[in-house]
Amino acid sequence: MIIGILGGGQLGYMLALAGYPLGLRFRFLDPSPEAPVGRIAPRVTGDYEDEHALERFAHGLHVVTYEFENVPVEAARRLTKRVEVYPPVAALEEAQNRVREKRLFQKLGIAATEYAEVGSRGELDAAVRQIGLPSVLKTCRMGYDGKGQWVLRTAKDAEKARAEMSDAPLILEKFVEFTREVSMLGVRGRDGETAFYPLVENHHRGGILRLSIAPAPNAAASLQRAAEEATRKVLEELEYVGVMCIEFFEVAGKLLANEMAPRVHNSGHWTIEGAVTSQFENHLRAVAGLPLGSTETQGCSAMINLIGEIPETSEVLSVADAHLHLYGKEARPGRKVGHVTVRAESIEKLEQRMGELPGFFRREEFCLEACGGARALVG
Ligand code: AMP
Repeated sequence: MIIGILGGGQLGYMLALAGYPLGLRFRFLDPSPEAPVGRIAPRVTGDYEDEHALERFAHGLHVVTYEFENVPVEAARRLTKRVEVYPPVAALEEAQNRVREKRLFQKLGIAATEYAEVGSRGELDAAVRQIGLPSVLKTCRMGYDGKGQWVLRTAKDAEKARAEMSDAPLILEKFVEFTREVSMLGVRGRDGETAFYPLVENHHRGGILRLSIAPAPNAAASLQRAAEEATRKVLEELEYVGVMCIEFFEVAGKLLANEMAPRVHNSGHWTIEGAVTSQFENHLRAVAGLPLGSTETQGCSAMINLIGEIPETSEVLSVADAHLHLYGKEARPGRKVGHVTVRAESIEKLEQRMGELPGFFRREEFCLEACGGARALVG
């Protein structure tokens, strides 16, 4: 079976690595000749909207999926005329627009952050009056890794944001004083079977994910149930097929949905070593119409993103049960170039192993507080 993947970044790279042992083959479409998947799979280089590129990409494929949620909806829709496309295009449409996403959460009775629509610059003042300060202004579309966001704490911040923003639609959200951030990865097969991984605790800095700990320390069974229930509702509403991630803020023991990603997710990379079946394999099983694999964990895992720099390979590998993943991308500031997963049989042992990582991980930008264990897990 040949699976076509729209987008050729690290998520596509890890999908292909998970699919080869299952006898699956891959073809990618990406506008960049530098897309990392070029090293391991045939790649069509062309714009998603280029009809000829789409034609060459689609020829002989059995199913198409994506690893990037900002694929133009029209391109995905065009592909549905010749090949099955999973997750459904409707999921792309919902996830590409923060207002639509919020409305979907509301419709399904999933608690989400309070917000106001900001159709243009002129509507910012009214939105600030409605939501209050502090708040977070975000572009409705094409925002990721904290790009296209302004935190507004004072009237002056609002003035500055107004000067910087374009007239594209935005959304103003109440700033949530969360206890922590968690995410839920769920998967739904073509036959409607669903499976969920345990909640993951995530630490961001500058809007970029730095560290994930799984299972999220001290997560009550009720929190896990609530996250699964919310994710199940979205999966069923969209007749979804594949892996989906919903990111939540935990506030006073309750969850507020922040956003959803209709694809495999950075906060699920730990599943490669830390779960019986990785998110990548389960996504492929789902879109290929195969039975889903167990989402049981194998011990506790911590995943640290490598952003802009790569540590010494031998130093990482000298730590027991530490796993290095490099994406074959050139290191540039702010760019995710790889990740390290450390695994252990208990959270205490995990903490100890994290402390054995090289000095690279003890620098300021890596010293993150893990609120679950209330102690620093790194450094
Ligand atoms: P997003 O692009 O919505 O995932 O935002 C990136 C990160 O910014 C989140 O993971 C949070 O750490 C932070 N953030 C986003 N929205 C809010 C909010 N309404 N209140 C507090 N922090 C936020």
